[in-house]
Amino acid sequence: MSVNGNDAVIILGGGVMGLSIAYYLSIFPDFKRPIHIIDSAPRLLESASGYAGGFLARDWFKPECTALGGLSFELHRQLADAHGGQKRWGYAGSHVYSMSLHGEGEGSRVEDWLLEGTSRAAAVGRRTEGHVSAPGEAVNSDGTPAWMVTQDGASWNVVSGAEDCAQVEPRRLCEFILEECTRRGVEVHLSSRAVGVVTNGDGKIVGVKIASTDDQPHGPNSLRCGDIVVAGGCWTPRIIETLFPRNRTKIEIDPLAGHSILYRTPRYVKPFMNVAHGQQDKFHGKDENIAYAIYCPPTKSWSWAPEAYARLNADSKPEIWVGGLNHDETVLPLPELATDTKKLISRESLAELRKVAVTLTGLKATDSQIAEDDLEVEWEGLCFRPVSRTGVPIIGQIPPKDLGVGFHTSLGAKVWVASGHGPWGISLSLGTGAVMGDLIEGRKPRVNISALEPASRMGSKL
Ligand SMILES: Cc1cc2nc3c(=O)[nH]c(=O)nc-3n(C[C@H](O)[C@H](O)[C@H](O)COP(=O)(O)OP(=O)(O)OC[C@H]3O[C@@H](n4cnc5c(N)ncnc54)[C@H](O)[C@@H]3O)c2cc1C
Repeated sequence: MSVNGNDAVIILGGGVMGLSIAYYLSIFPDFKRPIHIIDSAPRLLESASGYAGGFLARDWFKPECTALGGLSFELHRQLADAHGGQKRWGYAGSHVYSMSLHGEGEGSRVEDWLLEGTSRAAAVGRRTEGHVSAPGEAVNSDGTPAWMVTQDGASWNVVSGAEDCAQVEPRRLCEFILEECTRRGVEVHLSSRAVGVVTNGDGKIVGVKIASTDDQPHGPNSLRCGDIVVAGGCWTPRIIETLFPRNRTKIEIDPLAGHSILYRTPRYVKPFMNVAHGQQDKFHGKDENIAYAIYCPPTKSWSWAPEAYARLNADSKPEIWVGGLNHDETVLPLPELATDTKKLISRESLAELRKVAVTLTGLKATDSQIAEDDLEVEWEGLCFRPVSRTGVPIIGQIPPKDLGVGFHTSLGAKVWVASGHGPWGISLSLGTGAVMGDLIEGRKPRVNISALEPASRMGSKL
């Protein structure tokens, strides 16, 4: 068995969470330990982190998550300011509206069986106030943005302004973080997974055993380490079961699949310029242009809650992401590898999603009842949200005594978990990375996350 290094941090999972943790560790000036990201897929970002909507909020979270949410929102802003986020990952403050059609409330949401915290639509419902349209925006005669189809009988409400909400292109944000990580020496091992822990003669954990996921050799078959971080999104419970089959923790995370499409329309060719650019205006924020988010409750036309995000992307092209059509594990089970998710894409679901996208943003002649499909689709996707049963993420150290008999871990490698962020993983990613960095460094986390720690949900599995 080849064994490399001895006090490395090994991060299992290279989605936005694993990348953010590696990033914040790597930027600590005094942190000199090796950092490895191990991912079972042959390519990164074939998971939720690559296909998410990219909506960010400052304070739309459950109380346990409020401090983390606020920190993360500020870190997104700081990262974008420091590294040209608008031009590199499409960062911009976002206006947020809800649109209700007649018949609102009919139909049921597929994810209702899960606890609160699985869908942003629920949060929107509680926050609705005011009216749509702001000075300087390109709007239809009814005050809606020019790329929207005017809907008969629709009512619009302002939900939030650009100081408290924002948008990013999730894939490009992750690519930026990955680039920064590799520049600082973080090693990424693809098509690899941890299949067990290495212990010394005293039962102390000193490393992880690694196996290839495609029968090709991809690097060392074990790595020594001082910390193991499980950040595998929906795959987190499987990783923990593999490493610690007799663990006594309750890391309960369910996969909630969501289809989405990203497209352009000939009517959305310019971003909304910020008339208050450079001024202290809470509603418009300080960015040059403003993104636009629209939440629609279920209606007679659709039984789910569509979300549409319009923004200027990093190539300076306006784009729209539409999602919200979800499926629980009984309909779409989590595949072994993130790259296998594509095989599960449902043509019917995509057709339904596209129909809604056309209803909302297609080409509609004044005398016509229905909109035509002239959308230029960039990609169609499917990915899995890691939804914890309590509706808040699980972040912190797994108590050594709970890892199972046979491990004397109080003196060996520490085992951490950072997962279960549900529909908020992009928004909460940087805050999670920063507090995990603090914890691994042995510092007090910069915000209190005690209510999110694994220890607070101990079960009695054995
Ligand atoms: C349709 C949709 C829209 C969304 N929109 C938003 C949004 O607008 N705003 C927002 O904040 N959040 C959004 N989310 C949620 C967000 O995308 C997720 O919470 C977040 O991406 C989770 O990141 P992660 O790194 O924990 O997991 P993932 O992105 O799933 O990454 C997990 C990684 O672990 C790897 N892995 C799996 N098994 C193993 C193993 N055995 N060993 C090593 N690695 C392994 C996988 O290959 C993958 O790379 C959305 C999610 C969906 C599905």
